[in-house]
Order: sequence, then structure tokens, then C-alpha cells
Amino acid sequence: MENPTYAYDETRHQYNSKVILKHLLQCCPHDTLSFMGVTRVDLFVPILKYVFGLAQIKGKCSLISLYRLLPQFYNQPPNRDLLMTRIEKTALHELGHCLGLTHCRDRRCVMHSSTRIEDTDFKQPEFCPTCFELFKWRLEKLSREGNYLMPKL
Ligand SMILES: [Zn+2]
Ligand SMILES: [Zn+2]
Repeated sequence: MENPTYAYDETRHQYNSKVILKHLLQCCPHDTLSFMGVTRVDLFVPILKYVFGLAQIKGKCSLISLYRLLPQFYNQPPNRDLLMTRIEKTALHELGHCLGLTHCRDRRCVMHSSTRIEDTDFKQPEFCPTCFELFKWRLEKLSREGNYLMPKL
């Protein structure tokens, strides 16, 4: 995404992720199954210091930020593999929310909530069996209802 200047909060020096999500809902193609914005800016929601990403449960749009996924943010050397794995987990997590999944208690499941980057690094880039069944069921349901190009699971 281009820099979402419209969502900048001058007191927090961060970007309001809810405002960006609203913007995405307005500009996403209507025939899309799920639409994800990727940004480099630091995101927040009013009740939290920061978020790695945001989605509405069963919503069409989601948003992730690279800002706090970069090892450099934690004074670590750049690491492309680590960054890509973190992006994969964060994106899959938000996509799960879009398909109706809520947070999972299994710390290894990708649907476990990440409040710190250590949570993200601990979990696997995949759903636990329960979340996977739900994800698959929702995806199949959506494919019956709409004319989407469906990925094979
Ligand atoms: Zn979540
Ligand atoms: Zn799970």
C-alpha cells in the first residue's frame, strides 16, 4: 500500500488500523473473496499500543504491517527468512479471521493471538487441526455461495 497518510495519528505517531481497514473496504473489488492490505507503517487500535495486523471476523478485508515484523525493529540484523515466516504467519492469521476464525488457545496454532513478536515466532505457520477444519469448512461454504476462484487445500 501507499503510505496511508489519512490514518496518521499525530499524538501517537502511528497509524489507526481501523481507519485503514475502512478505506480498504471501500476500495476492494466486490467479487473478491478476501482482500489484504500490506503496509510498512506502524499500526495501532485505540485500546492497544500496537497491532501486527487487523481484520474483521468474517469480513472481506484485512491489513498487516511489516513494521514490527522486521528483525531490525528489535535491533537484530536483517533476516529475510525470518521476516518472510513472520509475514506468512501474520497474513494467515488475519485471513483466518476473515474466514470467521477467532483466537485459538493452542500457542502453536497460527490463530493464537500475538501480543509480542515472541508469540509470532513461537507459533507455526499453520492452523491446528480444529482451526483447519473450521477454515476449510468456511472456505467450502463460501465457494458454494460465490463465484470465486478457490485454492485447493
Ligand atoms: Zn487475531
Ligand atoms: Zn487453532
